[in-house]
Amino acid sequence: MTKIIITGAKGRMGRALIACAPNFRELEIAGQIDVGDDLGAVIERGDVVVDFSSQTATVGVADICAKYQKALVIGTTGHTDTNTFEVRLRKAQIPIVWASNFSTGVNTLFWLTRKAAEILGPEFDLEIVEMHHRLKKDAPSGTAKSLAEILAEVRKLHLEKVARHGRAGIVGERTPTEIGIHSLRGGDVVGDHTVIFANTGERLELTHKASSRDTFANGALRAALWVVKQKPGLYDMQDVLGLK
Ligand code: NAD
Repeated sequence: MTKIIITGAKGRMGRALIACAPNFRELEIAGQIDVGDDLGAVIERGDVVVDFSSQTATVGVADICAKYQKALVIGTTGHTDTNTFEVRLRKAQIPIVWASNFSTGVNTLFWLTRKAAEILGPEFDLEIVEMHHRLKKDAPSGTAKSLAEILAEVRKLHLEKVARHGRAGIVGERTPTEIGIHSLRGGDVVGDHTVIFANTGERLELTHKASSRDTFANGALRAALWVVKQKPGLYDMQDVLGLK
């Protein structure tokens, strides 16, 4: 039996994880942590921590996991570069699955995006559009950032130099290397992502729409069962799904 501790247990994703846990017979919830609770006090009850909390919490969660040699699954998004760097250091001590999106469909979208970018050369303009519910705190979504990173990597570009977050005013013509990233917010949208490859005369659009958080929760729980069997290192959902 793999024992998991959830951080962010009272949130939208935390509740979805608790609801989906019975789908996995070999998994048991050993702790539910939210603001005000002490992860250090319960960590020894678990084998793996599943973090869907806040970008300000993940570094502390990773430190405690490293101290007690517990595996970690991170779904939280919106971390600063410094926080990302600090969490990544822990890969030397514990196995970590860190994924901006745990759905099988989105991980297939990652794969398709890489393939399309490789096939459709640099004359295709690249734009990403994402939409999420009105309560989402970070923008662009972690998934949109992952998609942009894939596009930049295939085009051999530095994302921080070519990312174009929205447009307003007299911004001039589109430059050939820019990667547009646009965040829409409203209602209860669970998560939509479209990657657009636009050339003169044709346009290819790859779209994924999530309609239930259970898709992320089931993926994260699958990752929790997988990560406890791994050596220390940093993994993503494509490793869990065997897509690499
Ligand atoms: P939410 O705001 O509904 O829930 C977050 C929960 O974390 C809240 O209950 C909050 O009280 C708690 N929390 C905040 N700080 C904490 C701390 N220091 N310690 C413990 N708990 C703390 O948000 P949500 O929609 O559940 O999303 C949570 C995170 O997961 C966000 O970063 C979101 O972008 C991300 N997310 C990732 C995926 C994925 O597949 N990777 C999918 C959906 C959401």
